[in-house]
Amino acid sequence: MLEFVIHLKKSKMLELPDIQSIKNWGIEVKNPFVIAGPCSAETREQVLETTAQLAQKGIHTIRAGVWKPRTRPNNFEGVGEKAMPWLVEAKERYGVKFAVEVANPKHVEVCLKNGIDVLWIGARSTVNPFTVQEIADALTGVDIPVLIKNPINPDLALWMGAIERVYNAGIRKLGAIHRGFSSFQNTTYRNAPMWQIAIELKTKLPQLPLICDPSHMGGKRELIQPLAQMSLDLNYDGLIIESHITPDLAWSDASQQVTPDRLAEILSALKTRQITVDNVEYQSQLEIIREQIDEADREILEAISRRMRLVEKIGYYKKANNVAALQMDRWHEIFSSRPEWARALQINPNFIEELYRLIHDESIKKQTDILDSDI
Ligand code: PEP
Ligand code: MN
Repeated sequence: MLEFVIHLKKSKMLELPDIQSIKNWGIEVKNPFVIAGPCSAETREQVLETTAQLAQKGIHTIRAGVWKPRTRPNNFEGVGEKAMPWLVEAKERYGVKFAVEVANPKHVEVCLKNGIDVLWIGARSTVNPFTVQEIADALTGVDIPVLIKNPINPDLALWMGAIERVYNAGIRKLGAIHRGFSSFQNTTYRNAPMWQIAIELKTKLPQLPLICDPSHMGGKRELIQPLAQMSLDLNYDGLIIESHITPDLAWSDASQQVTPDRLAEILSALKTRQITVDNVEYQSQLEIIREQIDEADREILEAISRRMRLVEKIGYYKKANNVAALQMDRWHEIFSSRPEWARALQINPNFIEELYRLIHDESIKKQTDILDSDI
């Protein structure tokens, strides 16, 4: 399931006691917890109609961007404070809660003044500790759920730092949103998910609710469903999904928004998983499979050990003949054949290429140690 190996910077365990479960946020929650709504509030009619349709589909927390961080100028930057009365009206009419992005203390003040129920800090803000601190200061003494999106670059410490700053301001209804990470290369995704980073966050802060944003990860409608399912398979607590009454006409992020009807279809097709079950039969089967996995891992390690002994042997042989450790033709051969072998065995070739980079690096290191030694 996890297709690639990355190196996580080691960051220490965070001690943030009494982070509250979503069930205690004063919001109606189902499994999974779903926030849905337009990328941006555009007009009064659009906010009211979207809310009406989403509420009818059983969505109780509506998102709407009021101030939009845009990559380039001259794009629609959100209607700003003018949208607040529309949100307030939609809340009153349909009995829903609203979630809005805040990027500075003024946004916090406007949201609080208008009774917005949930705030989130966007990826472009999480990346900047000054901004996060200013927002955190504005939240001191306030009891409101705050969700913190991952920073645009894959830096777990930066994400945890933002969470810590908001926690230190006294916020206990805290959650993290995984919205994927930006990359220079064009990939399938707008912001590629890095599940390992979110899992690492969960291991450091097990009680922190984790929410997936498949809309900003995928950037395309078709990717919402598989990304959302992946997150539920990994035990995420909730989803934040962009939904618009006329997605193609949306003023921002048109290609990743879905109608409330389509959203309901996506949600009903999702399979929720249980963390674990107390069933004896299940537990004993699990133990049996885990023992088999342990056995397979021992075999892998024995094979690696055998490979390393052969590498040493070749190292001494190269040394005796005064030949360099790195031979490019051999390197090319390894990196073209191993992914092919993997494919034949139904293993993801990209994963094996990544793995061989590590194995080959270690092999070269071993050989250069031998070449440089006095033996
Ligand atoms: C958004 O949720 O509309 C948004 C701007 O997201 P992000 O901060 O993830 O880019
Ligand atoms: Mn958006």
